[in-house]
Formats: sequence, structure tokens, C-alpha cells
Amino acid sequence: MQRVSVAKKQSALRQPSFAADHLFDSHPETSLDFECVRAALKDGYTKPFLIVDTQIVREKMRRMLAAMPRVRPHYAVKANPNPRVLQALIEEGARFEIASPGELDLLISLGVSPMQVLYSNPVRSRDQIAYAASKGVEWFVIDCLDELKKLYSIKPDAKSYLRIDTPNIGSDWPLAGKFGAHTADIREIIAAASALKADLAGVGFHVGSQCRNPENWRVGLEKARVIFDQMTKAGLRPRLLNIGGGYPVRHVKPIPSIEVIADVVNRALEAFPPEVEIVAEPGRYLVSDAGYFVCRVMGTAKRGGKRWLHLDAGLFGGIIETTEGLKYRICTDRSGPDVKWNVAGPTCDSIDVIMRDESLPSDLQEGDFIYICNAGAYTTAYASNFNGFPLPGERVI
Ligand SMILES: *Cc1c(COP(=O)(O)O)cnc(C)c1O
Repeated sequence: MQRVSVAKKQSALRQPSFAADHLFDSHPETSLDFECVRAALKDGYTKPFLIVDTQIVREKMRRMLAAMPRVRPHYAVKANPNPRVLQALIEEGARFEIASPGELDLLISLGVSPMQVLYSNPVRSRDQIAYAASKGVEWFVIDCLDELKKLYSIKPDAKSYLRIDTPNIGSDWPLAGKFGAHTADIREIIAAASALKADLAGVGFHVGSQCRNPENWRVGLEKARVIFDQMTKAGLRPRLLNIGGGYPVRHVKPIPSIEVIADVVNRALEAFPPEVEIVAEPGRYLVSDAGYFVCRVMGTAKRGGKRWLHLDAGLFGGIIETTEGLKYRICTDRSGPDVKWNVAGPTCDSIDVIMRDESLPSDLQEGDFIYICNAGAYTTAYASNFNGFPLPGERVI
């Protein structure tokens, strides 16, 4: 089910039931109560906005900690860098992973110790490394020889971990194919680290975002176990294991719950002695369910027999993951029979089409609201001012 009409099925919206899921996994998932969206709209509407409930963010953090007691979550700031979201996570004991000096500055402004931050973008400029080092960042990822040499020429006492290539099968947003060292690279990097006396001190991987296949973690962990031994043999002291991000959230397709993924992860972790520090980098998992993205129909059109819905937020306004195949649950206040719509954003760019042939009510009209469920991750974080349209608002409760 892709769409729930709010008018027709409000109770279904608050307590989504996905019959097919019970075949796959029976752990219930959460969503922001739709009444919160209604309440937010009572304050008026001037532009698209994301409403986020920090209580849900807190609950997701607690759920992850309970499912994987050995694993310390380092939230991926890029998923939603709202300071109040970050503050809630700090209060729940989260640490963080960053990709840029900008993200580091944001964390420092909230009192986070850079010593506990992972710089997990595998390639950085010299200036960026020097800046992070000057602020006290100690841990950096590397996935290639060039970056190993660059990092240690700037910060000889850095602690680093090696990001390895792992399968991204079954991830809605695969990342393999860009980052991650392959077998031959790994041998070379370990030998170079050993020769340079670089503290290459662990292994990390990322199974791909919105990963619906728990086996990817098992494969990653088994590979990491082998590389830990290779490192020890080369005289290195591996002691950090980073199992990355990718934990999925409910949209349209069934997902394995964090508890099901934890069964796989916890078992594979038994191969690592207790002194190994184990971290994860959840992004989407901690923030998606906590938010609804609200936007509005600016106008409708018919072109060549095709119905078009023009929204006041599109690809440049934060609704971008649809363009890579992610399917959101979309709710409206209309209850007409479903027909196929092409859905576009407000800009003049021809790529600003966020969905084609999406089933939505036939009676949608100019001025109607569109509610996108579980949209707390990778929406506002991506938005730009392109073509002069305002950034989406953020209402944090
Ligand atoms: C984006 C990213 C994450 C978070 O991924 P999710 O799929 O949102 O959990 C974690 N680690 C790294 C290195 C990333 O680039």
C-alpha cells in the first residue's frame, strides 16, 4: 500500500498495519502521530515543512541500544543535522560520524567532544584533515593508499580504520562501487601502514542505505574478522570495528526490524574479543520515522493525456530520494479513486520530477496538502534554494 487517504483511513494511518510484513518480521515500527501534523497546520502554512518529533528519535536510539548492546551508535549527521535532533541524540548517549568541517563545527557548537567523533568520509582535503586534527578529532577512515599517506603526513598520530568493500545486495540506496577497499588494495594498505608505523586500528564497512538484507552485515563482519587477523600479523593493533549505517525504515516495502538485523550482527560479533570497540553509524534509522514532510499542490495539469501534479516542493526542495527509487507512503485528505499522476516540483528544471505514474486520488486539486510519511531523513538536509524557492521549514517537537 503506497497511499493512505487520511479522510478515509485515519486510524489506519496512526497504526499502520502492513499485512505482508508479518510474514517477514513481526516487530512493530513507529511513525509520527498524524494528529501532530494536523496541530502544526493549525499555525498556518506558508511553505513546505518537515515536522519532527524528538521523542521518536529518542525511542529509536533506545531501541537500537537494546537490540545491539555491544554496539555504540555514532549518528550520521548528514541524515538530518537539525540541532534539536542532534541535542536529543546527545542526551540519549549517541556519538557522531561526520564528513566535513561544517558538520564538525555544528557538533562542537553543541558541546560534543571531537575526540569521540569519527571522520568517516574516506577522502578529505589536506586543509580539512588539518582543521579536524586541530579541533581534536582522532579517528579517521581511509579506504586507499593515497589517503593513508595523506592523512599520516598531516597527522602522524591519527588513529584510522580501513573501510572495506562489502556487498550492497538488497539495499535501496547502494553505496558499493564508490567507497571501500578491495582484497588486493587491503593487502597493500596494511603493508604500507605497517611500514609507515601508522596506527591503522580497525575495520569498517557500509552495507548500503535502506538495506533490507541482514546477510550483508554477516558478510561484512566475516570479512572484517579476516582483516583483523591480517592486521595483527602485520604488527598493527586492530581494536575498532565499525559496522556502518544502512538500518532500514518502513516505507512501502517490508523491512527487517533492527531486532532481526541484531540477531545476525550480535552472533557475528562473538568472533571479536570483548576489548574490541564496536560502533555503528545509523543515519536514516534514527530520524526517518520521526517526521512527516508536508507540502502542497500548486497546480494540476493535463499534458498529452497525462495528469501532472505540481507541488511546492520537489527534487531541489528536499524530496529527492524518490528519484533513486525510494517509495514513500504518501497521504492526502482526498478519498477519490486512485489514478496515475506524474508529480513535479516547483522549479523549471526538467529533472524536477519526483515521481512518475504514482497512484494518488483522482480528485486532488490546487491547494491540497500532501503528507509524506517517515520523511525525517535525507529531506531537509538535501534541500536547496534553486530557482528562488525557499528552503523547507523545520518544526521540531
Ligand atoms: C551516509 C552514511 C551513513 C548513514 O547511512 P544510513 O543509511 O542513513 O544509515 C553512515 N556512514 C557513512 C560513512 C555514511 O556515509
